[in-house]
Order: sequence, then structure tokens, then C-alpha cells
Amino acid sequence: MPFRYYLTFIDETEVGSDGGSSQIRAKSLPPLTVSQQEEEQDVLQQLVAALPERAAHLQPLAPQAPQVVNEGSRGHPDICRRPCIRMARGNCEAGRACGFCHLPHTAPKIHLNKPLREYLGSLTDALRLAVLMPHFQERLPQLARAQELLEVMRQESFAGPATNGPRPGGKRGQLDQQLQRMNLAGLFGFLGANHFKGASQIPAIAMEVLESLRAAEPATMA
Ligand SMILES: [Zn+2]
Ligand SMILES: [Zn+2]
Repeated sequence: MPFRYYLTFIDETEVGSDGGSSQIRAKSLPPLTVSQQEEEQDVLQQLVAALPERAAHLQPLAPQAPQVVNEGSRGHPDICRRPCIRMARGNCEAGRACGFCHLPHTAPKIHLNKPLREYLGSLTDALRLAVLMPHFQERLPQLARAQELLEVMRQESFAGPATNGPRPGGKRGQLDQQLQRMNLAGLFGFLGANHFKGASQIPAIAMEVLESLRAAEPATMA
């Protein structure tokens, strides 16, 4: 008797020609007639044709629940708070209420190197604001409070000695490059009270603006 390779891998579950129970067709059974073979082919073709449709029904059992994250991750990765140390160790008991970011921070945080920090620190408050301002202008959203911060920065930078600011190129160019790579929360760090030599309204306003930007961000992400 000729050896049959026909439907070798799938005929264990094929529907019997009577449309009834499945039957395993052993090699020892008599060869199928031509019409039986055609019928078998038809059934298989129908099954195969139906596969994509069946797969489509199987895939999404339920819509994906949104990934619940926490207070500290609002605005991730541009204005979120520092990454949570407890979360990095595996789990944070504070959960959603935690004030540090629970989302992964894979990109290394950009810091200014020492020469650039010293350069920025050597400038007067007005000049430093003049250097920082274009970066804030580019990144701050068109929200009233954020634009107010820009206005105060503009005023205080013009309150300094009459100058166009540090010349572009050299350290200034390097500084601009690094500032461009920093996230917005990092830029806000330069508006902290510790950076100002004289009296300024900016630190208080900046802190308030950063908090309101964070609060405007959803605490969940899809
Ligand atoms: Zn984050
Ligand atoms: Zn945490």
C-alpha cells in the first residue's frame, strides 16, 4: 500500500466525512476516494480561511486597563519629579500617592559639567536670565502662568547692565547645547533661589509654575 503524506499533520482533528465526530485516520485505513479527498480539502480550506478572523476575536479579551502611575510621575519625562528610590529597589508602598516618579528613567540625566556650571555661576543674575530665557521660551507651554514667568524673566534680565549678553560661541555655545538637552524640570533648577545673587521674584514664581504644569498633566497614561 502506498504511504500517505496527505494531511499528515492536521488530519488528527479533521471533521469526519459524515460531519460527525472527529476521527483519527490511521495509515492502515483504505485510501480516500477522490470525492472524500476533495471534501477534506474544502473543510481544511474553510478552517484556514477562518483563522485570521478567529485570531482577531481572540486577541483583545478586554480593553487594556490604563497603567496607573502616581503623583510624582505627572509630566514624565519632561517635568516629573525625581525617580523614586523605593520603586527602583522593586516596590514603593506609597503607591499612587508617592511624590517621586515611578516611571522608568532610562536616558541619563543631563547635568552641566563643572566649567559650564562655573561659567553660568560667574554671570550676573540679569545675564544668566538672558542666557536661560530662549530655552524657556522654546519649551514653556502657552499657558498664562508660564508666560507670566517669561515676562518676569524678561524684565529682570533687562534690569541688569545694558548689554546683549554673553557672546555666542565658545562656552556660551557649549552651554546652549547642554541646556537644549536638559529636560524642562532640569532647566527650572536654574531658577532656584540658590542661583540668584540679588533679590528676585523669579524663584517663587518658577516653583509655582512648575507645580501648576505638573498638576495639569494626567496622573495616568495609556
Ligand atoms: Zn519621570
Ligand atoms: Zn515611590
